[in-house]
Amino acid sequence: MSIEVVNITKSYKNFTALHNVSLQIPEGELVALLGPSGSGKTTLLRLIAGLEQPEEGAILFHGEDNTNRDVRERQGGVVFQHYALFRHMTIFDNIAFGLAVRNRKTRPTKQEIKERVHSLLRLVQLDGLAHRYPSQLSGGQRQRVALARALAVEPKFLLLDEPFGALDTKVRQELRRWLRHLHEKLGLTILFVTHDQEEAMELADQVVVMNEGRVEQVGSPEEIYNHPANPFVYSFLGRVNLFRGRVRDGKVRLGEAEFDTEWENLRGGEWPAVGYMRPHDVEIALAAQDSKFVQAQIQHISLLGPIIRLDLKRLDTGELFEAELTRQRFCELDLQEKSTVFVKLNNLAF
Ligand code: ADP
Ligand code: MG
Repeated sequence: MSIEVVNITKSYKNFTALHNVSLQIPEGELVALLGPSGSGKTTLLRLIAGLEQPEEGAILFHGEDNTNRDVRERQGGVVFQHYALFRHMTIFDNIAFGLAVRNRKTRPTKQEIKERVHSLLRLVQLDGLAHRYPSQLSGGQRQRVALARALAVEPKFLLLDEPFGALDTKVRQELRRWLRHLHEKLGLTILFVTHDQEEAMELADQVVVMNEGRVEQVGSPEEIYNHPANPFVYSFLGRVNLFRGRVRDGKVRLGEAEFDTEWENLRGGEWPAVGYMRPHDVEIALAAQDSKFVQAQIQHISLLGPIIRLDLKRLDTGELFEAELTRQRFCELDLQEKSTVFVKLNNLAF
């Protein structure tokens, strides 16, 4: 089912949690809502689920207005970070719950429920555990039960709010891979909330970057990483260096270097300008090769394995930044702490 969020505004008392948010989720896509804590991700998910009502705007499923429908009518499956399973019920009964509580007309037979639950247990790779209780499972297994329970009622879409947030790194990585396979198998529309950029990049077809109740950018992982729309997205998606300079007569001056810009309107005066470069895009040289460089001193060398990280200090401004080199490049340059190097600025983004 496709989901469309149209100009949603949502406030709690006098605090606006979402400002005029719009979003389109095509049928069958796995979409990540990515943003720091407090950016409005959970609020947006709850609005789509029907657990909250917006003051303004609409939510459409397959083009049909669902803004005033209640949770049940929307037929979505929801899994939260701490989705408490029923502790006094077996795994079987937990998964069967949504089917067993249906009214007589729509309730499957006992045999049908049994078959459905066992096929779900196979799907989430927990067959054989039907008669255990939640306390007898690991955290990762419990979240898979929560997913099976959400899937039991054949939802039209799935909403997952940091479903792996409480688990340790290794289990999270396994569950990510597992969720991706599950999505491929089911072809269900899934909206997935995370504050972890790596998780979003690894899992999603599309990433929606949120900040302070607004959508900053929507794009594929590749687009948002390589073509961030603004400084917030740039710095939220990974380590980034800032190179400060000045704009004068339509040119940015940064150390000895000069860059042409399209900022024709900035003629006749001087303004600060900031260039961005990811550490792995920083190129180190032992001599100046053209005019676009700054000189820097190596403060510290960290051997991270296949990658070497340099902490550098600009000689002109004293600003600190980082470079990441392959081990091979590092050895070729024969770099030492305290030595002075040239840093190319050709791939600086403004
Ligand atoms: P996220 O999931 O991205 O961390 P939330 O959607 O939970 O963000 O919250 C967004 C903002 O709205 C936060 O500043 C939060 O404090 C506020 N907020 C969320 N729920 C409520 C509520 N029920 N009452 C008042 N403020 C709330
Ligand atoms: Mg949240």
